[in-house]
Amino acid sequence: MNKFQQTWDNSHFYSGSQDPQIIVTVEQTKLAIAHLTSLCAPFNQYIAVAENLPEDQFVAILNQVKLAHFHRTEKFQAFRNLQTFISSTLSTDTLDGPARAWKPTLQQLSAEISQASKALDVFLTRVSDPFIQQLITEPALQELSFALQHARKHQDQLLSLPEEQLLTGLSVNGLQSWGNLYTELAGSLKCDVNGEQIGLAAAFNRLSDSDRTTRAAAWHGVRSAWETQSGTVAAILNAINGWRLEETKQRGTQRTLHYLDQSCHDSRIDRATLTALMDSTYAGRSIGQRALRTMGKVLGVETMEPWDLFAPPPVSESVPSISFDEAIALIASAFSQLTPPMGEFAIMMAEKGWIDAKPTPARSTGAYCSSFSDPREPRVFMTFEGSMNNVLTLAHELGHAWHNWVMRDLPRYKTYYSMTLAETASIFAETLVRDALFAKATTPAQQLAIAWEDGAAAATFFAKHTRQVYL
Ligand SMILES: [Zn+2]
Repeated sequence: MNKFQQTWDNSHFYSGSQDPQIIVTVEQTKLAIAHLTSLCAPFNQYIAVAENLPEDQFVAILNQVKLAHFHRTEKFQAFRNLQTFISSTLSTDTLDGPARAWKPTLQQLSAEISQASKALDVFLTRVSDPFIQQLITEPALQELSFALQHARKHQDQLLSLPEEQLLTGLSVNGLQSWGNLYTELAGSLKCDVNGEQIGLAAAFNRLSDSDRTTRAAAWHGVRSAWETQSGTVAAILNAINGWRLEETKQRGTQRTLHYLDQSCHDSRIDRATLTALMDSTYAGRSIGQRALRTMGKVLGVETMEPWDLFAPPPVSESVPSISFDEAIALIASAFSQLTPPMGEFAIMMAEKGWIDAKPTPARSTGAYCSSFSDPREPRVFMTFEGSMNNVLTLAHELGHAWHNWVMRDLPRYKTYYSMTLAETASIFAETLVRDALFAKATTPAQQLAIAWEDGAAAATFFAKHTRQVYL
């Protein structure tokens, strides 16, 4: 009997993708959007004078900013919960009909929310520094301090208000739908692995099979499945890149930026940081190559092939598969060595049914952590089948979840972080578990199982990065 369920329980938000309450939330969101539009309407006029705003108007306008900001932070909580609910539903079943139907509607509403407050955003990006200085002394607006300071660095990339609104509106059926098409394709793709038709997520898991011919069959199966879609996939990538290039060009009338400058700005790093990262990765590629050579030796393989990258260590037959309950206990004990609340948190995630890890037929690939908005509850998604690699992935995602959890009382705008920061929490958590498992290992076979994961991580990260950038 398992102690923890391996599927998440989101029923206190909605009973399912056909819950009639979803329609109620959608209708309430439309009303809230109309109200937000009217609260932000005055800023249409203020934009023209933003740079030279007379000081005697500061207080009156600050009060309008407060009202609009409060509305957009507080009145869309149910909508944000619904977004998380629908995307979670689609992760466990990419073929869920009602959830698939709701997805574009929610994307549309999300664009309408940002269109509704666009005048406010453009105003706050353009307005004079003294106004911002006064704004951040207001307790209700202080949470905007960093976000505004950051956005204002790219002040000169702003288009006119109607152009900004048009771009946001068009991106729903333009830019974003390419992502939807990719997700749909990936969810419905069938891979032929030794004559068996299986989904992508299941085929990926077979890449870590102990039998080399099964791994090779899985790798070829995934590749052949994508090859049938190569024209479509190329069109998707061209359209996304075309959009990015055109948008960068349109925005660059005052100062021309490279499209990577915008990506770096969004990720809150400089181009120089990105270049330094890539250069040091390339300079250190021998670590990955050494790891691969050592893994090849242990596997008794002359040349490591792509399907050997996720191979388990050859002793894995004698290392029993790990149950979900055991994985949670292992992770909780490793987290507790750093700080007991972090260990208790891992157990709470499992107890409350905030993790979905059970293999299902039309499941998404990959693993992620997301969060409901109100109450702020994290969720972890992955596919757990008992390997050491699965345990480390679970630890990684629980690291993200812990990061979210410790911020749960912060004002919303202070909790937004970029991927460049996010991975610090997750890789730290993963390393805690890796180190604890290694210290606990008593036999060479157990030690090899952990060291193997380290080697594989080095090899796949370096192989991936060096190939993408330099070859
Ligand atoms: Zn991560």
